[in-house]
Amino acid sequence: MGPCAGMPLFLHDSASRGNVPFAPVDPERVRIYTCGPTVYRYAHIGNLRTYLLTDLLVRSLRILGFGTFTVQNITDMGHMQHERLEAGEDKVIAAARAAGKSAGEIARFFTEAFFRDGARMAFLPADVYPRASEHVPEMIALVSALEDRGAVYGEGGYLYFDVTKAPGYGIFSGAGLGEAEPAERTDEAIHRHKRRPEDFTLWMPAEPGREFQWESRWGRGWPGWHIECAAMAVKYLGPEFDVHVGGIDLRFPHHENSRAVVATATGKRFATVWVHAAHLLVDGKKMSKSAGNEYTLDDLAAAPRPGRKGFSPADFRYYSLTLHYSSPMNFTWDGQEAAARARSRLQAAFRRGALQATSGEVAAAALRAEFLDAISDDLNMPRALAVAHKAVRSGIGGDVARSLAAEWDAVLAVGLLSEADGGSEVDGVRAGEAEKTPVEVVSMARERDTLRAAGDYAGADALRGRIRAAGYDVVDAGVEPSRLVKR
Ligand SMILES: [Zn+2]
Repeated sequence: MGPCAGMPLFLHDSASRGNVPFAPVDPERVRIYTCGPTVYRYAHIGNLRTYLLTDLLVRSLRILGFGTFTVQNITDMGHMQHERLEAGEDKVIAAARAAGKSAGEIARFFTEAFFRDGARMAFLPADVYPRASEHVPEMIALVSALEDRGAVYGEGGYLYFDVTKAPGYGIFSGAGLGEAEPAERTDEAIHRHKRRPEDFTLWMPAEPGREFQWESRWGRGWPGWHIECAAMAVKYLGPEFDVHVGGIDLRFPHHENSRAVVATATGKRFATVWVHAAHLLVDGKKMSKSAGNEYTLDDLAAAPRPGRKGFSPADFRYYSLTLHYSSPMNFTWDGQEAAARARSRLQAAFRRGALQATSGEVAAAALRAEFLDAISDDLNMPRALAVAHKAVRSGIGGDVARSLAAEWDAVLAVGLLSEADGGSEVDGVRAGEAEKTPVEVVSMARERDTLRAAGDYAGADALRGRIRAAGYDVVDAGVEPSRLVKR
């Protein structure tokens, strides 16, 4: 299936600061890189809102007829001293270590938690989840390529990138050299030999006791954060790909710098379009461990609600969809309550409609077009949700109600046709079940859906066999994602 004719997708590109018509190199395989988690803590709802943007992009591209290939890295090798972590987070790591756990074990634990949260939020899995710790040879090779271009200097085991060698440096900061905020200033040693504040670390010597360290011709050490993403993106997507996604806080210096190293080393442009998700605040304040407002999905599930269960991941997903991704979101419990109720009303209306006689075929065509128009307008989910509410008010019934719910939930994934009271069925996997169903089984089921959609039935059958071997059956449901049933 090719992209829908006459329905061009527009995305807001942070680099050119405008809405651009989306024109991927290969519409059958739109290549996307998205910055993943640093796996030393649980994902909070602000992280999840950012990851949701990638999911909405992928789901929208698919309904518009594109194929996708997505890479999301897992930052699993430290940056404990060098990233600006809050004191509370360092304590978590310290406590885990005191309990006799290695940094590697902690990283594996939180990587699993990240996958579990993604399944609960109904995120389609990425095609590749490269671990930074498994790609250090690629990072070293990229630093060598930069050295060949004369863009590296340093001493005492520290290597820095000379940003004056990067074509177009400053596309995100918008600042001239020497004017920008120093990128990293938490560690004195790291800056001692820097020529200018924007220059950044490519390689650092391993401090005593550091678990993750590698041999290189610059000495034993470990790579800087910006070169990590750059090397993994180039490995899986090439030096030029279609879309780079991330939170707005990563735009500078992280994205500025990962773009700079790839452009300098390869002469290629790196990402064509840059899409950034806005901040999430809680009650108007920045989330932090110390303020106790760094909410996770478990906090939402445990929220007291008179006569009801807490909020499901789908309730939070719905809440997030009521705002455009580029608008800052101010999470409040009242707002979450209102969103959960709106979701229940929408579900109930679709279920009632589905039980009635088939009607509204003519209206459905216009509604379909409106929905596609909304998501093509820079993934405008508030408008898409409004179309869904309008549809149930317009008297659609029977097959029309069922097919619209199925089509739109392929993007919204808020359980349009599931039980309104339990309120947590998303993507065929109830949130509670998603916790019990092993993440690799859920992941295989979603991968199989992708293969089926692409017509690779042999591949899909092979995965069905592996899912059966893991103790689950998959039940296909038309265009909807398949369901998992324990054998
Ligand atoms: Zn990144």
